Amino acid sequence: MMDQIAVIGSGTMGNGIAHVFALNGFGVSLIDVSQPALDKGMQTISGNLDRQVNKNQITARVKEEALGRIHPFLSIAEGVTGAKLVVEAATENTDLKLAIFTQLDQHCGPDTILASNTSSISITRIAAATRKPEKVIGMHFMNPVPVMKLVEVIRGYSTSGETTNFVMQLSRRLQKTPVEVNDYPGFVANRILMPMINEAIYTLFEGVAGVEEIDTVMKLGMSHPMGPLQLADFIGLDVCLAILRVMHEGLGNPKYAPCPLLVNMVQANHLGSKAGVGFYQWKKDSKELQVSPRFAR
Ligand code: NAD
Repeated sequence: MMDQIAVIGSGTMGNGIAHVFALNGFGVSLIDVSQPALDKGMQTISGNLDRQVNKNQITARVKEEALGRIHPFLSIAEGVTGAKLVVEAATENTDLKLAIFTQLDQHCGPDTILASNTSSISITRIAAATRKPEKVIGMHFMNPVPVMKLVEVIRGYSTSGETTNFVMQLSRRLQKTPVEVNDYPGFVANRILMPMINEAIYTLFEGVAGVEEIDTVMKLGMSHPMGPLQLADFIGLDVCLAILRVMHEGLGNPKYAPCPLLVNMVQANHLGSKAGVGFYQWKKDSKELQVSPRFAR
């Protein structure tokens, strides 16, 4: 019998997660709160599968089969029926996630494993909203999900070894490389990435070097595919600030305090690529990188 899973949220991450499960033979219920959000998610999956067909990574038939395994739902109660695993990838908001996990606790079978793709919210706290915290775990996929190999598997305070092993094996079935980590603010990926981004912003703020110079040092000097300021623009400066605040508060160490320039840019709505401007200026049809006039030297 085909394995059945459910994904909650059909945005950037949710549609990528559904894509990868479906391509690897799983039946997927894709759940969101509005029909336009679901339609957009399905269109994105179809477009991304087309890209794989054009690159000869999969055949047109494999694409159609994968798409045929994904079924959209507007209700959690209906969508999670028969799911062995639920991956929650809804908006990053603690109250929303607690409410979703309370609902999942009511509607899922006793053996269903509940995973969250959260970037910064405590898995332990989410798990405590359910009656089975041993079945709750973090499955932190990276963006873009169909391309990035890593899954950070986050063990909450009460997550069982059985749940962890199940998710580690399942991630390998998706042709991903899982890494097991414990649940502390920022996990591993953001705990290391965000202070680096924050330090790059401090380096700019203190006038040590300009935007292009900082990114060039890290690209050519450290073999990073993208400089930290460009990456921050891609992630969204509001998202970077929110994660730094979670780490600053949760770990209680002043070294995680966000740079005042980052705070100012978020207040000014210079949020990076999604806002059209951050450290760089982002034009829709141009791939050329242009430093924001605010930082031109
Ligand atoms: P997004 O805004 O693109 O998508 C979120 C989706 O959740 C939207 O379609 C929204 O309609 C839906 N949603 C909101 N409330 C819902 C509910 N009650 N039930 C079902 N769906 C609901 O966000 P995203 O970037 O895909 O992020 C999703 C999660 O993944 C967040 O927890 C985020 O921290 C995490 N994450 C994001 C990235 C990234 O690079 N974007 C990387 C790793 C992890």
